[in-house]
Amino acid sequence: MDAGAIENDPSVIFVLDAAYRFRLCNAAWDRFARENGGESVVGEVVLGRSVFDYILGAVARHYRRAFERTLQQGALWSQEYECSSPHVYRRFLMSVYPIQGELLVVNSLCVERPHEGGVLSAVEERYRNAGGMVVMCSNCRKTQTSGPEQRWDWAPGFVSEPPLNVSHGLCPACFEYYANQLGS
Ligand SMILES: [Zn+2]
Repeated sequence: MDAGAIENDPSVIFVLDAAYRFRLCNAAWDRFARENGGESVVGEVVLGRSVFDYILGAVARHYRRAFERTLQQGALWSQEYECSSPHVYRRFLMSVYPIQGELLVVNSLCVERPHEGGVLSAVEERYRNAGGMVVMCSNCRKTQTSGPEQRWDWAPGFVSEPPLNVSHGLCPACFEYYANQLGS
């Protein structure tokens, strides 16, 4: 994925170098940081610092092992996690791609809803495009939104029960991953 595509992608994306230091954070990272009260974690502050300055305790050991394994084995690693705010319950899928000795980390929204309950409504409207198709990534199985932002969400309902008229594509990160695999 070229720098412009990463910068403008609606998913929160960052790149870690081989020593797990932030080399790049995109615009969505800064938006998310500011919306969640974190002026101290906007991109220009964290660049050059280790991601493990911000991930502490037992979770840090878990992520360090996962990142090391991803770099050594050269295979995509992903995990769902919760990152809620006081007002909304949110889950994300973190996909970690080893690319040329670095880690491209893409955080895709899975679920966003009020804490009070209720599930994401009008899911079909959100994902079915003008041609009547739902586009899913054939590698990571994320689903492309039909709106102008064309975000790729992790929609668990579509994974457990594929929608009608599904068409398979590759999301930008998976496309880049395979382009590098084939090119190397
Ligand atoms: Zn994908």
